[in-house]
Amino acid sequence: AFHGSAKEDILESLCNQFTIDDQCLFKITQTFLSEISDGLSGYGRPMAMIPTFVKGVPDGSETGTFLALDLGGTNLRVCEVTLLGDKTFSLRQQKYKVSEALKTGEVTTLFDYLADSVDAFLTDTASQGHDSHVSHPDEDSPYVPLALTFSFPVEQSALDSGVLLTWTKGFSAKNAIGKDVVKLLQDAFDRKHIHVKCVALVNDTVGALLSRAYTSGGCILGAIFGTGTNGAYVEEVSKITKLRQNPTVAAGGEMIVNTEWGGFNNSRSALPTTPYDNKLDRESINPGFQAFEKFISGMYLGEIARNVILSLIDAAPKPLLFGGRSSAVLNKQWGLDTAVLSEIEEAWECLGRFSPPGQGSPEAQKEEKLRRIQGVLAQRLELSLTDISLEDADVVRQVCNLIASRAARMSGTAVAAILVHTERARLWDHGEQSSAGLKDEGKRIGVGVDGSLVEFYPNFQTKLRASLRALVGPEVESRVDIGMAKDGSGVGAALCALVAQRQS
Ligand code: ADP
Repeated sequence: AFHGSAKEDILESLCNQFTIDDQCLFKITQTFLSEISDGLSGYGRPMAMIPTFVKGVPDGSETGTFLALDLGGTNLRVCEVTLLGDKTFSLRQQKYKVSEALKTGEVTTLFDYLADSVDAFLTDTASQGHDSHVSHPDEDSPYVPLALTFSFPVEQSALDSGVLLTWTKGFSAKNAIGKDVVKLLQDAFDRKHIHVKCVALVNDTVGALLSRAYTSGGCILGAIFGTGTNGAYVEEVSKITKLRQNPTVAAGGEMIVNTEWGGFNNSRSALPTTPYDNKLDRESINPGFQAFEKFISGMYLGEIARNVILSLIDAAPKPLLFGGRSSAVLNKQWGLDTAVLSEIEEAWECLGRFSPPGQGSPEAQKEEKLRRIQGVLAQRLELSLTDISLEDADVVRQVCNLIASRAARMSGTAVAAILVHTERARLWDHGEQSSAGLKDEGKRIGVGVDGSLVEFYPNFQTKLRASLRALVGPEVESRVDIGMAKDGSGVGAALCALVAQRQS
């Protein structure tokens, strides 16, 4: 009905800007491969490729009880994990909020808060009479061992030390860059006379990799698609050429590398950037950094959508959404949560709390789904229902779909790059496929994932897989097992504490 209309033109233009074809996926992956090699060969490179000093992965037979502290996203978590040695574990945890003031204030205040949270957890354990194995320091070991999951770029120099390279994901606490985060935490425990010793420093991606390996018996890549995005994989030490100068590292064997792929292609030479992305980047606290992450993760997708929606509301000469009306939620930077995009797509796909539409013609069914989206928009964007036409609901749905599809397809390039780099796949030219000579030929390839985006966003995994298939071919893609690394940061940290105990 509106063929050739301004609305149709602009939707087509959005579609062109946000769709990445296979050729573009290839280019991104090739650039990925060269930045991986670059990062492994030296320090201070765009993609940090951080050696973690964790050698090898668990197989599920490990046992013990450990305390873990997890900082890196929306919540702070303290947990006690017991590895039962049969690929299973038990876990008790408490979440604490991290306020904006803590994220952006003095770093000692932030770490005092971390120490207090651990203290509160231990006190709570003692007072509730939980049957705990770690919470009571005794004569033999006056300190409770704890592993810190710290999901920011840290240049590690040992399992239990590493300096913060930069903050990401909205953190900017002062006087932290360049400091050893284990020491910051230990000092806070010591200042407060809390008998806890931080024995290991773990990135959440490493946690995801280790915990998936523990529960499934094998894993080569751990990846996070939550507030931010990042991945860690099992590398041959001989390929981490920047470690050649390090006398403490034996030449052979394997080591987990934290890629920090959120900072992939900060130059954006390979990333198809739209004006909406540029606006987000310019107004972020780290313009020019975490380029890849800003296309992909939960912290940013809502903001990209907000930028697109506002441009449609403000379109001239005629508004193209909501009769030109906006709302407080839409007017506020970061006001639109990625979870809302998820909910809009759930309403369309009839997932979550939305049941399939009743009987009726396809048009009637479509209308029913659009009415649900109208409801979601009115509620979450705090717009008046009368300002949201069914056409508006349809436009917003398409915008969400474009942004999330781009994110999922780009996520596939990261997984493909690791498979190709570790010689488990070749970039596929759409010809005859052969995995002859490749590592793990014919075997299952384990990938552990975590984060709300990959867990809850409708079809995220399906689209990631389609992108992976286009890049490495169906034979390899069909052997990749992507599974949730549940409680990765807790269980992974416990496994790291275990490694630390064995190595000490
Ligand atoms: P973190 O990465 O901080 O450990 P999560 O994995 O829960 O935590 O990710 C939080 C991010 O995921 C937030 O940016 C939020 O907007 C987004 N998010 C929360 N719920 C959903 C959902 N249902 N679908 C998609 N994204 C979500």
